[in-house]
Amino acid sequence: MKKLPDAKGHFGPYGGRYIPETLVKACEELAAAFQAVKKDKKFNEELRYYLGAYAGRPTPLYEAKNLSSHFGCGRIFLKREDLLHTGAHKINNTLAQGLLAKRLGKKRIVAETGAGQHGVASATAACVFGLKCVVYMGAVDMERQALNVYKMRLLGAEVRPVHSGSKTLKDATNEAIRDWVTNVEDTHYLLGSVVGPHPYPAMVREFQSVIGNETRHQILKLTGRLPAYLMACVGGGSNSMGIFHPFLKDRNVRMVGIEAAGEGVHTHHHAASITKGRPGVLHGMKSYLLQDKNGQVLLAHSISAGLDYPSVGPEHSYLKDSGRVIYQAVTDREALRGFELLTKLEGIMPALEPAHAVGYLPKLMPKTKRNDIVIICLSGRGDKDMGTVQEHLKV
Ligand SMILES: *Cc1c(COP(=O)(O)O)cnc(C)c1O
Repeated sequence: MKKLPDAKGHFGPYGGRYIPETLVKACEELAAAFQAVKKDKKFNEELRYYLGAYAGRPTPLYEAKNLSSHFGCGRIFLKREDLLHTGAHKINNTLAQGLLAKRLGKKRIVAETGAGQHGVASATAACVFGLKCVVYMGAVDMERQALNVYKMRLLGAEVRPVHSGSKTLKDATNEAIRDWVTNVEDTHYLLGSVVGPHPYPAMVREFQSVIGNETRHQILKLTGRLPAYLMACVGGGSNSMGIFHPFLKDRNVRMVGIEAAGEGVHTHHHAASITKGRPGVLHGMKSYLLQDKNGQVLLAHSISAGLDYPSVGPEHSYLKDSGRVIYQAVTDREALRGFELLTKLEGIMPALEPAHAVGYLPKLMPKTKRNDIVIICLSGRGDKDMGTVQEHLKV
C-alpha cells in the first residue's frame, strides 16, 4: 500500500488544498513544521509528558465481559478514551497542536466548535501553553450548548457567536478560517478533526494515532492476537482514523466506521455523509459531502452534536472507495439503545457519539466467532449528554 497522503495532501481524488491565495503560505509553513516535529525527539518527549501526566494516557483497554456475554459470540474490548481529561479523545489533538503553535512562535489560537467539545479542549490547551484563544461558534449552537460556552469562558477563551448561514458548525468553521487568513502572522488555526486543507487531515491523524498505537500494543499483550474488528464512530473522523491507522496494513483486521443515521438515511435528518453524500468541496478539502442536486451543502442532523457534520475527512472517502473500511449508519434510536446497554451491563455511560458504535453491535456480533476480538473506540464519556438522554430514556 502506498503512503498517503501524497506531497500535496491527496488521498486518491480526495483531500488537497482548496484555499485562498492568502493561506497558501500558512499551510505550507504548517506542513513543514509538522514534518519537522514528527521526527523531533524533544517535541515528542514533551508531548508524551503532557499526554501522560496531564491528560491521563495511556488509556486502558477494557474487556467488556458482561457486554460480550450478552451477545454470546466474540470478545468485546473498549478503548477508554472517555477516561481522558476533559472527557474525550479531542485533548490528544489540542495538546499536540497547542505545543506545535508554541513551537511556531504563535501567540494566539483560533478554533471552530459545534457542540463545544473541541472548543473546551482547545481552551484547555491554550491555558496549558499560555496562548490566547478565540473560539467561533454558531449562535444556534451557543444556545444549545450553553454549559460548554460557560466552560470556555471560565478557561479564559473568547467565544465569538457566528450569525451567518445556519448558525452552526459549518458556518463557525468558515469564520475561523476567515480569522486565520486575517491574522496568520501570530495565529494558529487549531482544527478539531481530520478535515480541512493539507496538512490538517494527515497531521490530526498522526496526533490521534496514539489511540491505535496503544491499542495494538495492549491487545497483543493481553491476548497475543490482533482484533478481528475495529469499530469507531465517524463525525469528522479523527477518533476513528486514530484507532484505524496503525492497523491499515493488517489485512485480517476488519474495520467499521459508524456514521450517524439520525432519524434514518431515507429522511432529510441524518449526518451520513459517506453513505448518502457525493464528492464535493467544503472547508478547503474534497471529500464526500451532503449536498442537494445544485451542490448546496445540506444541514446535517444527529442526536449527538459531535457527529453532526455534513462532510468527513478525505482519507475516509478514500478508504470507503477502496473498500478497506466498511461504513455503516446507525440511527438516533439505535444509539440510545447502545447507550442504555453499555450503562446497564458495564456501568459505563458513553457519549452519544460512541454510543452509535455500541448501537451497531446487535448487527455485528452475530457474525463473530467465539474467539474473535472486537475493539470499540469509546471516544468520550456521557456526562455532556445527560440532558438529551433524559429527554428520551425513561427510568
Ligand atoms: C467530537 C467527538 C466525536 C466526533 O469527532 P471525530 O473527529 O469523528 O472523532 C466523537 N466522539 C466524541 C466523544 C466527540 O467529542
